[in-house]
Amino acid sequence: SVVKETYSFETEAKQILDMMIYSVYSNKDVFLRELISNASDALDKLHLQSLTDPDLAEVAGDPFIRIVRDQQDRNLSISDNGIGMTKDEIIAYIGTIAKSGTREFLERLKERREGDPAEMLIGQFGVGFYSAFMVADRVTLLTRKAGEEKGWRWESSGDGTYTLEEADRPTCGTTVTLKLKEADPENGLKDYTSQWVIQDIVRSYSDFVSYPIKMQVEKPKAEESGTVLEDQTLNSMKALWMKPEDQVSEEEYRQFYRHVAHDWKDPLERIVFTTEGMSQMHGLLFIPSQAPYDLFMRDGTSGVNLYVKRILIMEDCKDIVPSYLRFIRGVVDSEDLSLNVSREILQQDRQVRAIKKGVTRKVLQSLKKILSDDRDRYLTFWREFGTVLKEGLAQDDGNGDAIKKLCLFSSTAGQDLTTLEEYISRMKADQEDIHYITGPSVEILRNSPHLEALLEAGEEVLLLADPVDEIWVQGARFGEKSFKSASQGASEPKEEPEEDGTSLLSFIKETLKDTVKDVKISSRLKSSPACIVGDEDDMTPQMERIMKAMGK
Ligand code: ADP
Ligand code: MG
Repeated sequence: SVVKETYSFETEAKQILDMMIYSVYSNKDVFLRELISNASDALDKLHLQSLTDPDLAEVAGDPFIRIVRDQQDRNLSISDNGIGMTKDEIIAYIGTIAKSGTREFLERLKERREGDPAEMLIGQFGVGFYSAFMVADRVTLLTRKAGEEKGWRWESSGDGTYTLEEADRPTCGTTVTLKLKEADPENGLKDYTSQWVIQDIVRSYSDFVSYPIKMQVEKPKAEESGTVLEDQTLNSMKALWMKPEDQVSEEEYRQFYRHVAHDWKDPLERIVFTTEGMSQMHGLLFIPSQAPYDLFMRDGTSGVNLYVKRILIMEDCKDIVPSYLRFIRGVVDSEDLSLNVSREILQQDRQVRAIKKGVTRKVLQSLKKILSDDRDRYLTFWREFGTVLKEGLAQDDGNGDAIKKLCLFSSTAGQDLTTLEEYISRMKADQEDIHYITGPSVEILRNSPHLEALLEAGEEVLLLADPVDEIWVQGARFGEKSFKSASQGASEPKEEPEEDGTSLLSFIKETLKDTVKDVKISSRLKSSPACIVGDEDDMTPQMERIMKAMGK
């Protein structure tokens, strides 16, 4: 006998579900894109696991997605023969929202401003499946995990509970069946059992999906009048990254970006490239316009998928992108790697290193172009990802100078950010070093007494307030110039100290003898009476603070 169990949605899941049902979401068509995207992900997963599990290789043979329309009963189903889900996985992935970003999603949703639609947040946080409830009164999911005997039926009307029971399913994979709401064109609800409507949505949102999306469509009979049903693949399955840029529409790129990046916002920049020689590859990469919530989390997703000759080898492949470019999303397709390359091999593979080098160069070139062509857009990039890019200065991979040219800094020259090249163009003829000072915030640094002498001498000082600055700037050079801290090292007194000055000096030295190494008369200060200076080779105050915070 089959037992049907009833469960409640987790509170957060319920909130998102409600949001979908009483939808603020104007474009309801996207439910299909979300379900197809999940089917495509499930096929990717089965494919990737079958690379190392010969038992799965058999069932992964003929991947497809199928859409079935039932106009009479107003049902629509989307099936895949992908990885499927176990009972526990259904509970974990569908009944709750396992993603760590969900809480943030809901918070951002609450503080959402007027005219900043909720739909902008969808996708980035993976609430795709629930979008089915925008168009359906009831959703059923029949699934069987690859390699397991039993299947499961999940069902919900989106009312806060769902049921689960054991069920037969002849093959592995998942079928999501929607009991559609009555069509209501005024509220954006189309007749989703119409073949034209479905064909249209698939073409505009999912054309690039790399598995066939099949559906029965009506075709006029050849001889007599009337129609016959015929199987048709609705998508072209073209690998977008293989096409010349002028043969792909902006909309196609946009939808592809949403699919690979799980990001609703349009990207800031697209990088399409082909390389020959050392390493042959095709790339379609994107710079997002907004940092994802997990950019600074350990194990945060990076998002470049590695293909070998059009076949997906690894999602989120960290070996082909340096960590300081981990915000990049997209696809790299290599012509040289072997198809059975494994995770372990990847890390040492010569070809993989060549790919990483090529990808890095392309991205840095693209950033350079944005910086010189469109400063405003570059500022957007810098605001979102500048601190990540700067991490590259502390990683000696041969791109230090290229990265330095891409960095923007606060400086005493004004409120605007400056590049190093701009700084150098303003340097006085006799100025030898690039002056900088590090500290907890630009505002504090602007008022630092350490700057007084340099400012009076008309020299500019960079104000470095990111923790990472502390790490790369030590001993750094830019072309001929070295970086010199304004809070370190001696500055020679211009006049000999006077008699009473010396006695004041001895008094201060005596009083502070357990706290400071030495006390000197200095020409460094103009309006402040005293400041603390480090030795040339001492840690800067900011570095000391970082070390203290780390318990060192
Ligand atoms: P996301 O796709 O961003 O993870 P969704 O809400 O679209 O978020 O899906 C939630 C999860 O449910 C997926 O991550 C996946 O684990 C599971 N899932 C959804 N649809 C399928 C499917 N067709 N096959 C297998 N697992 C699925
Ligand atoms: Mg999804």
